[in-house]
Amino acid sequence: MTATYTREYWEARLVSLSLEGRCFINGEHRHAVSGKTFVRPRPMDGKPGAVLARGEAADVEAAVLSARKVFEAGVWRLKEPSEKKRIMLRWAKLIRAHAEELALLETLDVGKPVLASLNVDVRLCADGIQYYAEMIDKLYDEIAPTGPNARALVRKVPLGVIGAITPWNYPMIIDCWKLGPAIAAGNSVVLKPAEQSSLSAIRLASLAVEAGLPPGVFNVVTGYGEEAGKPLALHMDVDMIAFTGSTAVGKLIMEYAAQSNIKRVALELGGKSPLVVFADADLDAAASAVAWGCFYNSGETCHASTRLLVQRSVQERLIEKIEAVTRNDIMLAHPFEPSAQIGALVEQGHMDKVLGLIAAGEREGARRAFGAERVLSETGGYYISPGVFVDMTNDMSLARQEIFGPVLAAIPFDTEEEALRIANDTIYGLAGAVFTRDMDRAHRFSEALHAGTVWINTYDMSNFATPFGGFKQSGFGRDRSVHAIDKYCDYKTIWQQFG
Ligand code: NAD
Repeated sequence: MTATYTREYWEARLVSLSLEGRCFINGEHRHAVSGKTFVRPRPMDGKPGAVLARGEAADVEAAVLSARKVFEAGVWRLKEPSEKKRIMLRWAKLIRAHAEELALLETLDVGKPVLASLNVDVRLCADGIQYYAEMIDKLYDEIAPTGPNARALVRKVPLGVIGAITPWNYPMIIDCWKLGPAIAAGNSVVLKPAEQSSLSAIRLASLAVEAGLPPGVFNVVTGYGEEAGKPLALHMDVDMIAFTGSTAVGKLIMEYAAQSNIKRVALELGGKSPLVVFADADLDAAASAVAWGCFYNSGETCHASTRLLVQRSVQERLIEKIEAVTRNDIMLAHPFEPSAQIGALVEQGHMDKVLGLIAAGEREGARRAFGAERVLSETGGYYISPGVFVDMTNDMSLARQEIFGPVLAAIPFDTEEEALRIANDTIYGLAGAVFTRDMDRAHRFSEALHAGTVWINTYDMSNFATPFGGFKQSGFGRDRSVHAIDKYCDYKTIWQQFG
């Protein structure tokens, strides 16, 4: 099948695609109340892409009202579990049936290779909706052990209206991490996708209604963070904000929750994940894990392995191997090229920020081993080649700040104790990895690493069955797995006395 996916194939498909994105409220595509729109430049070539409704407080108001109405009426929440499951399974099936269209929308918005969108993002999104669909008729409530003359039912009930605010790096995957468990639990959702990546969210919502999800259960308000995200997070009738994005905005979300109705908050935030390689490790496996772990999706990955901690004696050999993997396997190209493994960064402003951080790092004395330069500028797109800085110390800005671009900071260490200290010396705690043939050390180290996910001799393995999220300023609350349902529910106890 991949053989047919030529650049020309995608160019031709593009012609028939509507790139006008409106808010999706109560099952209808709606212009913003103000009538305002904004245009998204395409990351692949800088040409104008999607034209989107510029939603604001009035649009949030309409979406929350529709979400509340349908929740109170119980048309979704009180439906037979088996029927809810059927509808969500149909939704997953429709996502798969429209995979090429969704992949194209995702790539137009964010610049990643269209085959990655197709084979990873769209697939995982459908899998996620299916995973939570299948849970719906397998959830039991509890009876508390209260004694023979009374019965206390402990019911898990949906919270009500969930505001989901999501980023642009893996829009469909992260949207489904919120939508799947929130909707399966019986809630209504108002999703505010990132302003850079709204097209797939709007299409997901219309497919949900086509699958039979009652209008109003899943609404989308497009627009900017300050104009649409903030009123959603401040709304008095929103019960929870499920947020994925930067730590800075995550802090604001907590403030908005406190300033309004003490809504619940779940935060999936940034990272600066360490990948630690001891001298006894399989260096080929480590080099591949480092390169893909840091450069996949052009480094626009929250859990990217951006800090390589390498035992000093093997630093030089490992960097050579990382360079070989990067040059030979991680092909950077226009996102429609079938050979592309990585494409463009999301937008001009972000590319400029990444280049600025690289320049600031060099002024501090960071030594470039290779890459980390703007390339393909003649296309008008926003491309940066994967690059590595060596002999770094953990106090240098390239080692401390989340760059969110294809930039690796290699930090040499001598002892296990030193490696652990450096690995944990960060405000973040999203992920980490250790490469060694010594299994005692591997387990000792992974237990001591402050991170929500730790990999041993591998990187970036994931599965819907495993919770994902961070420690420290990487946030709290977990996406994925059966546990994610809990965050969209509350416990309610119902007592009855006998006799
Ligand atoms: P961002 O914080 O700038 O934006 C995220 C979302 O918040 C967007 O929808 C944006 O419009 C909205 N927003 C911005 N300002 C707001 C405000 N004042 N009020 C309400 N909403 C507001 O992040 P980004 O640049 O889109 O994404 C990159 C960040 O996301 C990185 O820090 C990355 O590590 C993080 N991320 C984390 C995870 C995770 O699972 N931990 C996953 C992906 C991305």
